[in-house]
Amino acid sequence: MQRCLSRTAGDVTGSNAMENSVLGASVSSNHGAYEFRILQAGTLPLQPDGSVAVGTEHRCTSVLIWPANERPSRSNTICVDPCFTDEGFRQTAAPVLCQLGLSVSDLSYCFVTHEHRDHWPKFPTEQPDSLRPLPISPTGAGFPGLSTVPCPGHSPRLRALRLRSPENHDVWIVGDAVLNLEWLQAWGYYWPNFYDVAAIVKTWRSVATILEADIIMPGHGEPISVTADLMRQLLTSFGDAEFSSVCPEVTKRLEQRLNDLVCRDRPALGRVQNTSQ
Ligand SMILES: [Zn+2]
Repeated sequence: MQRCLSRTAGDVTGSNAMENSVLGASVSSNHGAYEFRILQAGTLPLQPDGSVAVGTEHRCTSVLIWPANERPSRSNTICVDPCFTDEGFRQTAAPVLCQLGLSVSDLSYCFVTHEHRDHWPKFPTEQPDSLRPLPISPTGAGFPGLSTVPCPGHSPRLRALRLRSPENHDVWIVGDAVLNLEWLQAWGYYWPNFYDVAAIVKTWRSVATILEADIIMPGHGEPISVTADLMRQLLTSFGDAEFSSVCPEVTKRLEQRLNDLVCRDRPALGRVQNTSQ
């Protein structure tokens, strides 16, 4: 018998959900929660089947976060993976910063998920002097509600940044531990980086950890909502993933997560009985 854990997150999909999140949060005074906006929509030319999408930029996902009960300002904004292409900055970062009443020089802290060059701070203009590394311990000391989670595989020292949204969504910004939805569903790893067997297995274990999230912000794609349907797909296909037989515990963790989601979405028995009276 598997254990049901209660969760309060609803179903959230795509960038519209991000807009809803921000709008919903604007009336919140939720201590320890964080607002977030996408500053650069991540894209990746290389597809899981090995084909290359011509004309698609290699650009990472960049996210701006700040405490939900504060206005974003020079003292409280955190930029995750602020590696901007000229086009990526122009399309999203510039209008979002303008909408928030911020300039690049108002960005306070940066958090880099891993040391690869396509995630390291890079701005179309000079890097702002205001930007400094986020002083955060694994427990979030200094920034209540923020924490980091080791997610090795794609890179040995890759860390996800974990936060709680004002709607109580468990949001993980994971860099290339998950590239995007297509690569996740294909159980693909970024093979140009020359993974060995250990790195592939660590990747699957990190993916199983990350799927505890309600919303995943992947390294090169749109936000991913973790739903029972997604978990069923991943469970079905994991047997075909390379070296999945080396890490059977991943299957167990996926099953547990699916069970948790199904229990969460199932109406409480008492509520059904009351309705029928
Ligand atoms: Zn990357």
